[in-house]
This record gives sequence, C-alpha cells and structure tokens, in this order.
Amino acid sequence: MTTTNPEIARIVEAVKARQRFVLSSHERPDGDSIGSQLAMAYALRAMGKTATAINADPAQPPMMAFPGVRDIVIAPQVDGDYDAAIIMECGDLKRTGVSGLDRFFVINIDHHPGNTGYGQINWFDPRAAACAELVYDLVLALGVPLTKEIATHVYLAILTDTGSFHYSGISPRTFQICKECVEAGVDPVLVARSVYDSNNMGRLKLFGAVLGAMQIDPTGRIAIVYVDHEMARAAGGTYEDTEGLVNLPLTVKEIEAVIFFKQEKGDEYRISLRSKGDIDIGAIAKEYGGGGHKNAAGLTVSGPIEELQKTLVAKIERAIDGRPADR
Ligand code: 5GP
Ligand code: MN
Repeated sequence: MTTTNPEIARIVEAVKARQRFVLSSHERPDGDSIGSQLAMAYALRAMGKTATAINADPAQPPMMAFPGVRDIVIAPQVDGDYDAAIIMECGDLKRTGVSGLDRFFVINIDHHPGNTGYGQINWFDPRAAACAELVYDLVLALGVPLTKEIATHVYLAILTDTGSFHYSGISPRTFQICKECVEAGVDPVLVARSVYDSNNMGRLKLFGAVLGAMQIDPTGRIAIVYVDHEMARAAGGTYEDTEGLVNLPLTVKEIEAVIFFKQEKGDEYRISLRSKGDIDIGAIAKEYGGGGHKNAAGLTVSGPIEELQKTLVAKIERAIDGRPADR
C-alpha cells in the first residue's frame, strides 16, 4: 500500500530496516493498550521480525482470553537488546511504567492530546477513537495482511476505548475499520462477551457495595464513588474488579460526570474521571499532573479526601456550567 502520511512512511521505513522489537503500552493496561500492542506484535512477526511485548502491569482478567496476552512480559524494566521500541497509547514515556526503553530507537504511536513527542519518530492523532486505529493504518502500510489475530486486537481496542461506541471521537473510519475486522473473521459477539460478560461474583458484589455508597453532589449532576481495600475484601473482589465501574453512574440521565476515588495507601488516591459530551474533565486531570481524554481521564493525588472531593466537584461544576449550550 502506498501512503501519503509522512509519519507512517517514516515508521514503515524504520521498521523495515530493523529486526528486533520491544513493544510497550501504559501501566494498568486497558483494551486499547493491549489491543494496539498485540496487533502490532503480530504484524511484526508476520514480517519475520521478533516482537516482545512488555508492560508494567498485567492485563485485566477478561483480556486473558485474547491471543498472545499471556505471553506479555510483566516487568518494571526492559532487559536485553532490541533495535527499536514501539510505544503505543502513552502520552509520555513514563506512562509505560517500564524503565530502560529510552535506550532504543523509540517509535511513539498515540492518540492522547498533549503527547510530548518523546520518540525518534512520533505519530499521534488525537482524532482517532483508539490508538489501534493508527496501528490498523500502519499494519496495512507495512503490507501485512489483516489476519484474524491482528483484527481481533484492533477490534478489541476500538470496542473498549470507545466505551462500546459511546464516546466522542468515533468517526465513519471507526466503523470502516471495524467492518474490515469483522470481514477478517472477528466475531463481535464473542469479543463483547469475553470482555463484558466474564465477570466473577466478587466483582458484581463489589459493584453493588460501591454503588450503594455512591454520593451525588447537591446539583444532582455529579456522582462520587469510592472504594478502599476493606470494601473490596468484604465484597470478595479486588481493585482490578472495579474496572469499568466508573462508567455506570453515567447511565443515569441526569448524571453528567463521575469522580471515582480508589484509596491506594494512606491518603493517596487514584482518581478516575468520566463525563458526557462537551464537559472536558481531561483538562481538570491535567491540572493535577494526570491526563487522558475529554470524557475519560485519570490522576493520582494525595491529601484529605474531603478537600479533594470539594475542589474536584467545584471544578467539574464550573466545567458543566461553562460548556456550550446543548444543541
Ligand atoms: P482510567 O480512569 O480508566 O484509568 O483512565 C482513563 C483515561 O485517562 C485513559 O485514556 C488513560 O490512559 C488516561 N489516564 C488515566 N490516568 C492517567 C494519568 O495519570 N496520566 C495520564 N497522562 N493519563 C491518564
Ligand atoms: Mn486509547
């Protein structure tokens, strides 16, 4: 395939000239990190290259059913020699949580706004609904056929990163790529059931406990949810089991945004933010050194939780009130 995008052309040239690749994505990987990373790994192997996937944290249990996920190396640092590191889904290199990647020729492929351009080659497009949309283009540009494994990972990434086709950023191209994936043999029902319908009972009970304790701000537009280790233990679930929980309050019509506090240790909290439409909670996460997208972002902070909650609610209320009128 010929390509007019100069970054893709540079990546194609760099990949063709190299043999041994290490691939990484962000810590606490989600469907887009795993999908982008493994779609790329399978494409490289189809070209006769070697590809090692390495992440700081293991994939969520439902992802384990997908090809190659169990072979991802989980380590805080990369050992060994590679000709290049391909980093996907990371706004900066630290987001990998893996040290030593900067020893190699770095190819940075991402769709997060504000990517720092840390690679020798940088290709980011914040309009892409998932990083895997870029990986899909790259696979074709490399001349690799869309095998079932590659298509499965691209589809998995798009399905999860769009929140099952809920979030902004979805374009005709998103569906075009999904169409190609289905034609390549992906079973959308099987993928959706593997991702969304393979919970354990502890997870469901933990959802119940966390949602039962949910608070709503006085304006009725912001949901505040909270989990700590004790709640998780009592319900028979783990923190990993709370994946996806943050999106549930948004299914209530009046709820416009969600703040989800996960207590780490002491007064350190990992916070996930979600919003609907034009409410930019990504900008709020950034103020705290976190990041993400307009409707889905995260941050890690320390401090008294009441204080944090008050400030975040106030900031989000301002963002809700300041957005353009409903069209
Ligand atoms: P989640 O709330 O599911 O952990 O993350 C939502 C989105 O925000 C994801 O796209 C994720 O990559 C991004 N994100 C979450 N936490 C951070 C963070 O601490 N820094 C940055 N740059 N992005 C984050
Ligand atoms: Mn993504």
